[in-house]
Formats: sequence, structure tokens, C-alpha cells
Amino acid sequence: MEQRLRAEIVEIGRMMYNKSYISGGEGNISARLPDGSILITPSGLHKGLLKPDDMIIVNLDGERVDTPNAHNAQLKPTSELPMHLEAFKQRSDILAVVHAHPAHAVALSIAQIPIADDLVPEVVVFLGRIPVTPYATPSSEENAHAIRTTIRDCDALVLERHGSLTVGNSLMEAFMRLEMVESSARLAYMMALLEVDRPIPVAQLQKLHKQREQLLRTKLPV
Ligand SMILES: [Zn+2]
Repeated sequence: MEQRLRAEIVEIGRMMYNKSYISGGEGNISARLPDGSILITPSGLHKGLLKPDDMIIVNLDGERVDTPNAHNAQLKPTSELPMHLEAFKQRSDILAVVHAHPAHAVALSIAQIPIADDLVPEVVVFLGRIPVTPYATPSSEENAHAIRTTIRDCDALVLERHGSLTVGNSLMEAFMRLEMVESSARLAYMMALLEVDRPIPVAQLQKLHKQREQLLRTKLPV
């Protein structure tokens, strides 16, 4: 399991970089291991060029609990560790956290234009709300505090002037939610340029909300 997750983090780092969701050193990725500890990307490395042995294991207090290897002995966990740990503490249901700097989502947060969740059906059903958390200094406890309550009810959020935070039951799910956040932000950006405000009509939206409720019910643990 751990080796598979290490390989998946490498792959997701590469996709994040290739899709321009991060510049080389930016972004961070983590996964919850079966024993409750957290496998996480190190600070300072190019996330498009990670190797499986670069990743570090910490406990929920942020203390390193792995045996360092030749690749990661000199490395430290990402400076965004407090934010990742906060997400795992608030959401016992999730297994993965992905943080990136997608440009359209960040630009809209600076412009204070919300990423509308009522433009296309996929977002309404599969993602729901995409709230923006108030600006906080990156890599600080303040940042962990900024997401504390919002992450309880949402799988994707935007950190004002900074980036995205998406969570999921797998690394791929958290990554796919990042893709959906940025594609929604791109749409909202285009709508702003076109000066068009044309959400899905309320009656149609209600049907989609029902679909989402159904989807969430089927995902609840029995
Ligand atoms: Zn960041």
C-alpha cells in the first residue's frame, strides 16, 4: 500500500506540473497510511520530478516517524504540513490532500469573483460549493486555522491569493477535484470577460442538487 501511494504521489506531482497547476517547487501532496500516519511530499523539491523515496512519513502531530533513506534524510516535510494535518484531523473520512496554485482560481480570488458552482452540471453534482477562505500567510499555523471550519463541509476550497486545497478518498480523487476547481475557475473567468451572468435555471439546479444528495448518501459509510 505504501509503495503504491508513493508512486501515485510521484504521478500526481508530474500531472500537476504538466497541467501548470504549479511551478516546479510549489504545491504539496499527502496521503493517509493504514496506520494513521501521513505520507507527504518534502519541501523544496521540484514536484514534477519527485521520486518515490523522496516522500516523508509524519504522525498527526507533525513528528517524523519514518526511517530516513538516502533520498530523504536531508529533507523536511512541506512547509504546508500544518494545513495538511488540519485537513486530516477535521476529516476522518478522507485519505488524501492536494494543494496547488492554479492560476485562474487564484486570479479570481484576488479579484473577489466567486467560482460559481451553478454554471455547469458536473460541478453541481460532483463538487458542490467551492468557498474561498480568507487570506492567511502561506506555510503558517494561521493558514491551518483558515481552513479549519470550511474543510469540514467542502471537498474543495480556494485559499485567497494563494491556491487550492482539495481532499478525497484517494489521491486521484483529490487531484480530479483540483482539475474541476481550475476548469470551473476558467469558465467563471471567461464568463466575467464576456460579461455574461447566466447560471443554471433554479428548477434544473434543484434536480442536480437531488442528484448530489443521492451521490453523497451512497458514499456514506454503512
Ligand atoms: Zn501554496
